[in-house]
Amino acid sequence: MEKSFVLAKSDFQKFLQRLSTFGAVHAPVRVSDQSFAYKPVDLEKEIAFEALRTILPPKKFLYPQREALFSYDESGIVSEPQINEPLVIFGSHPCDLAGMKVLDYIFTAPPGDSLYIERRKHILIVGLSCLPDKYCFCESMGTDSVDDGYDVFLTDIDDHFFVEVATPKAAELLSDNDFLIPASEPYKQAFKDFWHDRKALFTNRFETSNLPALLDLEADNPVWEELGNRCLSCGNCTFVCPTCYCFDIVDIAQLNGKGQREREWDSCQFTDFAKVAGNNNFRPGPIDRLKFWYRHKLHGFQDAYQLPTCVGCGRCTVSCPAEIDDIVGVVVRLEGSRQRDSIYAKEEKN
Ligand code: SF4
Ligand code: SF4
Repeated sequence: MEKSFVLAKSDFQKFLQRLSTFGAVHAPVRVSDQSFAYKPVDLEKEIAFEALRTILPPKKFLYPQREALFSYDESGIVSEPQINEPLVIFGSHPCDLAGMKVLDYIFTAPPGDSLYIERRKHILIVGLSCLPDKYCFCESMGTDSVDDGYDVFLTDIDDHFFVEVATPKAAELLSDNDFLIPASEPYKQAFKDFWHDRKALFTNRFETSNLPALLDLEADNPVWEELGNRCLSCGNCTFVCPTCYCFDIVDIAQLNGKGQREREWDSCQFTDFAKVAGNNNFRPGPIDRLKFWYRHKLHGFQDAYQLPTCVGCGRCTVSCPAEIDDIVGVVVRLEGSRQRDSIYAKEEKN
């Protein structure tokens, strides 16, 4: 099968129906004036193609907020979850595709997380191009475009989508159809023009090429105390982040000896997250925890795996009730060489 096609927008419903033969299609749907969430869809008109960021990223499909690991009784483990429901994630933008690649890296590294790996096998990912708003800074993080991490990718070129079919799984699903046409030269040019012109649209950006060194040099910058003192330790920033993956393990035990072991998302911003035996807490206050989170996103993972764990989606910026997760603004302040208003201050002026 060819790899590059065009799909007339008038044929999108046919494309959607074909996707649904793989499994239930989940796509961004408008849930309020300003917010979107992934929901199951059957019809094109249900999809919010304009959605830039859903409240929760697609990590919720790969790694659910809460899931059973196994059930037990007095004899030991009696059942483990069966993961065999196929699913299509439609409409993931490059930042979220990059985020899922980080999760793949974490959860498939030996010995591998069997639940994650099984769930991943049953998911088909359809990426979708986007244009940045003032919160997006994926371009600064190098995640404004991706070459892999999806099965199909759609680029919006006016009344068509340019369709890249990237995996054998997708090629098989989309074979023998009457809606995909091999991409001719004018469409290929329109595709190249889209990605070239899009670069210039990013306004929320920093130039720093060596974030780890900057974070090291500015470990004692007063900005951490100023922001940390405003942090509410609510954990929003970690739950909405496409790459935050910390979890807690809980046993839901019954008096009859039966029970279920579950894992649920946890947050390094919670007071007890770094608490250990003897009532010692490595990061007892919000200043330490906020600095730790920034370092993990912009520094720590880079050292260990040569990957930043911030993909520049802007979710933490829009979700922080204390308005302190303006990551670009913080980096610019740490650089100290130029002035930039807080992105929240800009909001008030608009
Ligand atoms: S740290 Fe913030 S901007 Fe970066 S990936 Fe996470 S939620 Fe998105
Ligand atoms: S969302 Fe904001 S207030 Fe809440 S824990 Fe994160 S930085 Fe603190």
